[in-house]
Amino acid sequence: MTAIATLGSHCALQVLKGAKDEGLKSILICEKKRESLYRRFNFIDELILVDSFNEILDEKCNSILEKNNAILIPHGTLISQMSSSEIESIKIPMFGNKSILRWESDRELKEKLMLEAKLNVPKSISNPKEINKLVIAKRHGAAGGKGYFLASNEKEYNKKRDRLISQGIIKGDDDLYLQEYVSGVLAYLQYFYSPLKDELEFFGVDKRHESDIEGLARIPSPEQMEMNEVPSFNVIANSPLVLRESLLSEVYSMGERFVDAAKRNVSPGMNGPFCIEGVYDADAKFHSFEFSARIVAGTNIFMEGSPYSTLLYDEPMSMGRRIAREIKNAESSNQIDKIVT
Ligand code: AMP
Repeated sequence: MTAIATLGSHCALQVLKGAKDEGLKSILICEKKRESLYRRFNFIDELILVDSFNEILDEKCNSILEKNNAILIPHGTLISQMSSSEIESIKIPMFGNKSILRWESDRELKEKLMLEAKLNVPKSISNPKEINKLVIAKRHGAAGGKGYFLASNEKEYNKKRDRLISQGIIKGDDDLYLQEYVSGVLAYLQYFYSPLKDELEFFGVDKRHESDIEGLARIPSPEQMEMNEVPSFNVIANSPLVLRESLLSEVYSMGERFVDAAKRNVSPGMNGPFCIEGVYDADAKFHSFEFSARIVAGTNIFMEGSPYSTLLYDEPMSMGRRIAREIKNAESSNQIDKIVT
């Protein structure tokens, strides 16, 4: 029997509950410091205790996973804690496409794929001297918005960059990617593409609560002016959204263009869960600033299904469970090779 394995963080509870709901064995690679948390949940069949997640590359961990016929479900923690080469060297099969995770981590590759998908991407700025309107400076990888900042001109940018350097968060300009700031309603669009059915499912939408940009918005401007803090975009929580129904056809079309672009550029394509992240402006036009080429933590809101998965399934269907269902379907039709790399 196949087992589902994931790292103990991010969306592990949802993923392993989904595995159990589909009758698969669930395995957690768990840092010792979090053991007592994860022991609370009886749907986790086995814990592999490690000091650090990098031990997934060691033979000891690998052989337990291999013995269990495990498929690894990648999530944001894998990307933020391991380099692309390390991820690509993981021996057990990974759900989806592990090559596309490199495209998620690298801002230039990321932008290329989004443009290939004809998404409306805010302009990037290659030289801080060219800053002439509000920009957001972002770190590479899945940094979770920590250490991001806003600047309206080069002087302001230099001041904030230098502060991050002195805090040891970045080394210099190369660690930052500058993009025009778009104002509006933020929305994180969650999809699942099944290579077995060649079908795109729109699974849900969330918004993120980010600290302390959200906290700053609660402070009246005279007090804001007195503060000397560089706000950050550190994700703390997520909450659900539903979109105006008239926006849905463009939501599907963006997802389909993304799946097509991934097929053309990063074989075998965007298989499994992914997320397109952006802002609806005052004309309800979507500007996509980011994608995640794997399950996002915002799907944790919908453990019992979302308003959109409810339209597709007559049973509670979380993204974690959808992944397990795809694995089961692939197994029973002898097509596991189509859904893992
Ligand atoms: P990211 O790492 O690209 O997901 O960005 C983290 C957070 O920064 C997002 O959740 C948004 O709140 C904000 N953000 C990123 N890019 C933009 C942008 N171009 N315009 C407005 N807000 C942005």
